[in-house]
Amino acid sequence: MTRSAGVDGFDADVAIVGAGPVGTLLAILLGQRGKRVTLIERWTNHYALPRAVTYDHEIARIFATLGIDSETDPAISFHDELYYWKNKDRKNLQIVDWQSQSASGWRVRYWFNQPMMEKRLLAIAATLPNITLLRGWQGIGLEQDASGVTLSLQRNPEEVGPNGESRSLRAKFVAGTDGANSFVREALGIENEDRGYFFDWLILDMIPHFDYVASRGDEPAQWQLCDPKRPTTIVPGGPGPVAGGPARRRWEFMVLPGESAHDLQKPEQAWALLKPWGLTPDNAELERSAVYRFQARWAKQWNKGRCLIGGDAAHLMPPFAGEGMCAGVRDAVAMAWRLNGILEGKFGTDVLDSYTTERVEHAKHYINFSQELGQIICIADEAVAADRDARMMADLAARGGTPVPTDICQLGRGAWCEDSAHAGELSVQGIVEAGGKRDRFDQVVGQVAGQVVGQGWVLLGYDADPVAALTKAQQAELAALDGMGIRLAPKGGAGDAVDAEGTIGAWFDRIGARYVLIRPDFYVALTADTPEVLQTRFAKVMRALHLTLQAALAAE
Ligand SMILES: Cc1cc2nc3c(=O)[nH]c(=O)nc-3n(C[C@H](O)[C@H](O)[C@H](O)COP(=O)(O)OP(=O)(O)OC[C@H]3O[C@@H](n4cnc5c(N)ncnc54)[C@H](O)[C@@H]3O)c2cc1C
Repeated sequence: MTRSAGVDGFDADVAIVGAGPVGTLLAILLGQRGKRVTLIERWTNHYALPRAVTYDHEIARIFATLGIDSETDPAISFHDELYYWKNKDRKNLQIVDWQSQSASGWRVRYWFNQPMMEKRLLAIAATLPNITLLRGWQGIGLEQDASGVTLSLQRNPEEVGPNGESRSLRAKFVAGTDGANSFVREALGIENEDRGYFFDWLILDMIPHFDYVASRGDEPAQWQLCDPKRPTTIVPGGPGPVAGGPARRRWEFMVLPGESAHDLQKPEQAWALLKPWGLTPDNAELERSAVYRFQARWAKQWNKGRCLIGGDAAHLMPPFAGEGMCAGVRDAVAMAWRLNGILEGKFGTDVLDSYTTERVEHAKHYINFSQELGQIICIADEAVAADRDARMMADLAARGGTPVPTDICQLGRGAWCEDSAHAGELSVQGIVEAGGKRDRFDQVVGQVAGQVVGQGWVLLGYDADPVAALTKAQQAELAALDGMGIRLAPKGGAGDAVDAEGTIGAWFDRIGARYVLIRPDFYVALTADTPEVLQTRFAKVMRALHLTLQAALAAE
């Protein structure tokens, strides 16, 4: 077994096991801050088949910090349309608002192709010289001590046979983003909480040779057909393989009781199911046909000593809400700001405990929501379906047919001030003007301040100087966090930036705040209406962060 040690005895600040979307994003967010990262992936070649097809506004905001603009990027698409749940007679049962602009300043939903997005992320990672990608190696053992983690690796036996090379690697921290069968989770002895939810669905990824949505008249672009004879999901699959050409489409068919999942995924069966939808081998390509078992579970603990887990390693949910990868992307950001802060000497390692407490509750919200959506559609019994239809149609009529808005989900307890109304929720983003630029807040303010946007602490004061409202010691703490104080002025006023459309001012009014502290993951750490309240709540957040005194003093 070979081992290469770095100058400080560590091969990496952080070793990340698994280069899926979550591990790769985490590597980028650490690499951009100058950390030495080793990203370990068991397969030599990139996994080229689709899985996730949609992400939400929060993920669009995160991707924008990497320079990926969901509105204009050719690898991303959107439909200016609601999300419909219909019964077998195609009458509406439920309508979800996937059409509005969101509080994050982006559309509620975007559509994409997971392999294309992963390649994009890997290309960004490749531009950062301090990220080393080890392909064809898999993690097989880990041991932690007070200062670091020793990770044992071997060449993937499925690629090179049983007697391949092995080596070890020493890192200050290890993140397991190694998917549903996570070796890191197992090695840490972390158990799953399992809902015992299992439904098999056939997933068909299609490349029609024509504009499918245009060919279907009034049929929605994104919808669920809750027909007990064959519950079916019909959604976009992101842009097609040819730039400007027809888009991908995704069909998901529930495997019915008594059916063989193995037989159903054969191409001839797939084409038989697609025929009523107007697709044949002559007018479309079947990119992939596979049966997936939808599950609902989460790991009981997401950090242990110097190790963390995130993404599918930490949670699984049925894809009806399109939130599985989204939850993993949030994990990556939540891990990154904490690990960056610890490695920069700002936080104690205890801050990792709040990664678990915050993220588990948040992910559980989406697991519950996805399961509830699944309970609507996964019905193969005609009588049960008829009851459901009557109940849901009555509910929808009672609401006047209005779509369900996207929900606001609060983090579990952690590094935010519970005394503040609306803390632990996502912050609102609006269009601002500063330094001759007019754009979304993250883009304008980050550029003006010369910082990597979306990855720093921001103390906002609305028509008030936020930094002057802190004590001297707290000003040093904000500086130690590399935090920005921004005085936001209403239109016509003077400040560091102007709230050009009044979006942020309206939010401040709604939550009764003059000051808001926003974390690097865009969640609100505190709100306050006076300097005194700000100081008390700021002190609580700093305690929750375990900000080290040395870091604050060094910044003075
Ligand atoms: C049919 C389907 C539809 C979906 N639709 C959506 C959707 O629309 N929206 C959404 O948000 N989510 C969706 N998801 C979920 C989404 O695809 C996953 O949540 C996402 O891929 C998880 O990313 P990850 O990086 O955590 O794990 P993965 O993508 O599984 O990546 C883990 C990586 O770790 C590697 N690895 C594993 N073990 C080791 C080891 N020991 N050593 C080294 N490397 C290792 C693997 O090879 C892999 O590359 C869907 C999933 C499915 C199956």
